[in-house]
Amino acid sequence: MGAGHLTRLEGEMNTCIRCAYCFEKCPVFNERGWDSDGARGKVILSYGLLTGQLKPSKYVADKMFRCTCCRDCIERCPSNVNVIDIVSSARADLVASGFAGETHKQVVENIKKTGNIYGDAEVVSPLKEGETPLFLGCQYLSRPNKTKKYIAILEKLGIHPEVQKEVCCGFPMEILGFKAEFESHKEKFSQFFPHKGAIALCPTCTVFLKEGYGLDAKHVLQVISEKIPEAKLGLKVTYHDPCDFSRGLKIIDEPRKILKKLGVEIVEMKDSKVQSACCGGGGGILMSDPSLSDRIAKNRIRQAIETGADTLITSCPTCEQVLKKAATDVGGSEGKNIAVRNIEDIIWMGVK
Ligand code: SF4
Ligand code: SF4
Repeated sequence: MGAGHLTRLEGEMNTCIRCAYCFEKCPVFNERGWDSDGARGKVILSYGLLTGQLKPSKYVADKMFRCTCCRDCIERCPSNVNVIDIVSSARADLVASGFAGETHKQVVENIKKTGNIYGDAEVVSPLKEGETPLFLGCQYLSRPNKTKKYIAILEKLGIHPEVQKEVCCGFPMEILGFKAEFESHKEKFSQFFPHKGAIALCPTCTVFLKEGYGLDAKHVLQVISEKIPEAKLGLKVTYHDPCDFSRGLKIIDEPRKILKKLGVEIVEMKDSKVQSACCGGGGGILMSDPSLSDRIAKNRIRQAIETGADTLITSCPTCEQVLKKAATDVGGSEGKNIAVRNIEDIIWMGVK
């Protein structure tokens, strides 16, 4: 077996009482229907890897990498099993045994080579002097217009962010099982970003700056929600809670407070807030199983369309990307349409 990352989790795996509450809303289980696709199955497979009753194989790796890391199972689990820790450790043991996916290897190589997930040396920070450290993250580094908008919003609200040259937070290395690579990247990250606290633009980076580095990181919407002025935009939308927001950071009220202050009416989806349904873009499946990711995203778009709102707002660039594609696909095949926008566009409309 690989590098023994599962060893410290034997007790954690034994706390699973096999109740299957985690099946209820697991987006992967709901699409594929096998016990081994839900959290319970993944815990059992991981235990098999740990004891050696199960040999590392492509079959097991495919199962373990089919997880969006949405945290829904953790939220429902009566035994508080840390499924994400188990899945990422099982992935690490599988990677150490030679079962890393090619697309995942490429992302890790890209980070090592250029500091960002795209392997693009042209993706650079818009350097800016200021008072409060701002961490953009790869997704916003590659979307300069969105970043400019957030910076302009913060300036309008009297907050002066400082932007320095940065490298990826390393979360993709950690979640895709490249733990040794992450350990050496960690040092590099801390040299580029030597702060104790920060405002971050991406929900996933915010969670990881807190959990992976112990930084006092706040998501930009937490900061904006304290200062947002009133406006009368008169829109009616539905709001998609990104998993790392509502379950990772427990940020549920802030985006709603911002939208309401701006005069935007929210019609909630069937699964919202802490029970938000995943968009299908997390955990690496966007790269390793895009068809599964698409199916999950389309399920979410159908829920959004059911609300009757003509616009879906989200606060994560990955959610926005996959939901936009799903909205186009559903519009084309089912004739029902909804626009997908990121919350910074709406905030900008209200404060500019
Ligand atoms: S994290 Fe999400 S996708 Fe992964 S097993 Fe749990 S509920 Fe399923
Ligand atoms: S909900 Fe928790 S305890 Fe129950 S089967 Fe799933 S992982 Fe195990």
